[in-house]
Amino acid sequence: MIISIASGKGGTGKTTIAVSLALSINGGVQFLDCDAEEPNAHIFLKPVIKETKKVVIPVPEIDEKKCTYCGRCREVCAYNAIAVMKGTDGKKGSILVFSNLCHGCGSCSYFCPEGAIKEVNKEIGEIEIGSSTTLTRSNVGPVQFVHGRLNIGEAMAPPIIRQIKRHINSTRTVIIDAPPGTSCPVVETVKKSDFCVLVTEPTPFGLNDLTLAVEVLRKLKVPFGVVINRSDLGDEKTDQYCRKENIPILMRIPFKKEIAAAYSKGEPIVRAFPEYTKDFRELFNKIRNGKFG
Ligand code: SF4
Ligand code: SF4
Repeated sequence: MIISIASGKGGTGKTTIAVSLALSINGGVQFLDCDAEEPNAHIFLKPVIKETKKVVIPVPEIDEKKCTYCGRCREVCAYNAIAVMKGTDGKKGSILVFSNLCHGCGSCSYFCPEGAIKEVNKEIGEIEIGSSTTLTRSNVGPVQFVHGRLNIGEAMAPPIIRQIKRHINSTRTVIIDAPPGTSCPVVETVKKSDFCVLVTEPTPFGLNDLTLAVEVLRKLKVPFGVVINRSDLGDEKTDQYCRKENIPILMRIPFKKEIAAAYSKGEPIVRAFPEYTKDFRELFNKIRNGKFG
């Protein structure tokens, strides 16, 4: 079963909840941290990394001896990653590739009528594979761990996320920590999940971003429920919204200064407060059994 943990906004406690869930499940667990722009689950899980793989995407390289500056490549590029200036008054044209915007889709080389585009691999980041044994879990072995990291200055997280997800071990319960927000990296992360836990907080900002995340999950047809973190702060509007939209509230975690302090030391909730383990197990059972009452 693949369970992704997402949140419409950052700072809701998504990662500590994802890690605590992973550490509470009886049975084999694999943890994927797909927040390639800012991976931080490793701070809690402290995995031993056994393998590192570079992630590359194919970007166009132009042979200006063959290029006629016809502009076809610019027309087909949906990401504005190519600029072409036709030559005038006998002057040569010019062509520029903005490789940071390139998604490596291959359209430009496919449609170039002159065969002037060659694809070359560009490294955009890496993924690391290992396992975590530092935190003792009852009845279970190590948590298999995979995360990825985008190189500084790169903007394309989805290829890294795809590479991380290629390592999904379907014999285990897979917990995926998604990036915050509702943009392409989130879609790439949560699609094909069996269930998505949306972590929110009961504030106007939290509710606004929750409604956006709900729209995305409904479009993706991924079943989901909500965990309200710092549930005793803020207002009632998140509860009212969930009731109106028929969204199950799976768990509530009240604010505790000690949880925040543990977080700042890289300690997951269930490590600092072992009594929460049973609540996270209950959360998992609700998701597995599809019973949210
Ligand atoms: S499609 Fe090919 S020939 Fe036309 S501008 Fe692009 S690279 Fe040059
Ligand atoms: S590979 Fe795709 S995204 Fe990249 S420049 Fe070519 S058309 Fe644009």
